[in-house]
Amino acid sequence: MASEPVARAVAEEVGRWGSMKQTGVSLRYMMEFGSVPTDRNLLLSAQFLHKELPIRIARRALELDSLPFGLSAKPAILKAGGRMFSCWEMECEEDTCHSVRDWYMDSFRDIRYFPEVKNRDDELAFTQMIKMIKVRHNNVVPTMALGVQQLKNEQFSSRKLPPGFDEIHEFLDRFYMSRIGIRMLIGQHVALHDPEPEPGVIGLINTKLSPIQVAQIASEDARSICLREYGSAPDINIYGDPNFSFPYVASHLHLMLFELVKNSLRAVQEKYMNSDKDVPPVRIIVADGTEDVTIKVSDEGGGIRRSGLPRIFTYLYSTAKNLPDIEGPSEGVTMAGYGFGLPVSRLYARYFGGDLQIISMEGYGTDAYLHLSRLGDSEEPLP
Ligand code: ATP
Ligand code: MG
Repeated sequence: MASEPVARAVAEEVGRWGSMKQTGVSLRYMMEFGSVPTDRNLLLSAQFLHKELPIRIARRALELDSLPFGLSAKPAILKAGGRMFSCWEMECEEDTCHSVRDWYMDSFRDIRYFPEVKNRDDELAFTQMIKMIKVRHNNVVPTMALGVQQLKNEQFSSRKLPPGFDEIHEFLDRFYMSRIGIRMLIGQHVALHDPEPEPGVIGLINTKLSPIQVAQIASEDARSICLREYGSAPDINIYGDPNFSFPYVASHLHLMLFELVKNSLRAVQEKYMNSDKDVPPVRIIVADGTEDVTIKVSDEGGGIRRSGLPRIFTYLYSTAKNLPDIEGPSEGVTMAGYGFGLPVSRLYARYFGGDLQIISMEGYGTDAYLHLSRLGDSEEPLP
């Protein structure tokens, strides 16, 4: 436990750094800079992160202190997690298990009190430290989801969200967008140290990423969860040029397609589960335009009613029946849970200048259009 004056000094530092200007980078910039990962460039990159990360982290820490509806005071967000919020994916000692806010404060301190990065040794130590920070924040999304879920259960029993709730949605959008950026910057810097990168790979960016291939992998992954949960899974057909590739981050594309395909499989499965009709396949179409790569995930799962459409991108809307257990450890990925799939996927799309749209025909099916910018020159959104 830090003494009071120390805690006050840290709080002042957070306030100061949280008001500084953030600096965004584009996919293209990361790619060009990372294509020559010399010691000198890695040093420059570390020096940039040493200044940039505390600014971004401090902003989030400040916002975490002032959430509406008492969300800041939810155990998952504020207090030490203890047994109730066991860190599912991470091995951790119970008394070192902290809340989201603590993770941000600890990371701010770790970076701010790291001495100036002057040479290769400093750079390597700095890289180790930020790599550890990335691990520390692994569980931020499910933990925040728990806090939001608790709030929803306690305060809003009806399905209709009260006025003012938009504030929480907007906060979460900023919070997760910022998280994507921080993790991209750290991940890219760490990955540039790979002594033997695969051909065409620059840090986290695959300069020759085949969307068809990622769609195949994401489809298989989503189908296997569907099989596990329902005992069967609709087919998925993928259309497009298998030789087409463009520069993108494979893990981001996988995440977005995985979420979209899961939603489609669930809708089709639920619609046809108890019928003897032929189950229509989910279709994925990849189009390579000059400005955008667009991927459509199309299903005949019955669509979404028009009155529900405005809510599908909010963090609290889900029609999943079995919500993940708040008290117990999660059993890993499920077909549908908190209602985070669509809003988070849209943030990933927007992070590199793309977007996600959902068009539905109630009674028939849903089309999700994932637009990804091919130019890679749009700068990170900086909430
Ligand atoms: P998770 O966070 O696990 O993804 P979720 O699937 O409920 O949970 P979203 O992916 O954000 O959350 O989707 C929100 C809601 O939108 C779903 O619960 C479902 O009601 C509706 N929805 C999304 N995609 C489809 C689809 N393809 N067909 C029908 N309904 C859909
Ligand atoms: Mg989903």
